[in-house]
Amino acid sequence: MNSEIAKRVTVNPVVLNPTQPRQSASPTILKNLKHVSGYLHSPLVCLTFDDGPDPVYTPAILDLLAMHKIRASFFVLGEAAERFPRLVERMLSEGHTVGNHTYSHRHPWMISPGRARDEVARGSEAIQKITGHAPRWFRPPHGRLRRAMLKQVQAENMTTVLWSHSIIDWGPMGTETGVAQRLHDIKFGDIVLMHDGQRQHNHPHLIVQQLPKLAEWLVQRGITAVTLDQVA
Ligand SMILES: [Zn+2]
Repeated sequence: MNSEIAKRVTVNPVVLNPTQPRQSASPTILKNLKHVSGYLHSPLVCLTFDDGPDPVYTPAILDLLAMHKIRASFFVLGEAAERFPRLVERMLSEGHTVGNHTYSHRHPWMISPGRARDEVARGSEAIQKITGHAPRWFRPPHGRLRRAMLKQVQAENMTTVLWSHSIIDWGPMGTETGVAQRLHDIKFGDIVLMHDGQRQHNHPHLIVQQLPKLAEWLVQRGITAVTLDQVA
């Protein structure tokens, strides 16, 4: 593994709080990311998509990922997974990783501790019913950490994964130019946050529009996109 890869992997933690400066990461994931990186002789990134499955945008994104032979990780909502179970099955059958993004995307800080635990547990149950396996990965809504949630995550042997680079494909900053620029700014070792779900102020149509360009940049830079299951 060349030193550039090692540097990027070291400075871009896999698990971190997006509201704070980059900080310590899960040692397990980091160790394996380095290992896989060395094995492939290629810099790695993890592309992640939240808030789906969505009946319109998830199939479009899956089609593009398949066309460009890119694997990704989807943090799904239990509620949406129950409505569109075939899409969750399709994610798995096409080699993507499926993680838990809670049952109904309630803000972790605005609910009781009991409800917070329940949101995690029901999210996992919904995934397990469809896939036959308990999810290994958890991402809290809005990236907000909550002790009650993390206890449940730990009890279920999941690892919390936030991100190191947000495409900000939502809200007023989620413009075509902004999204394109931030996709262009992806660096080796990044965990990239995007959205396939339409909820709230997300603009998944911009991701669909820009994914072919992202695929080109990854190839040009020799960057391989891997799933969380592939690195840990
Ligand atoms: Zn979300």
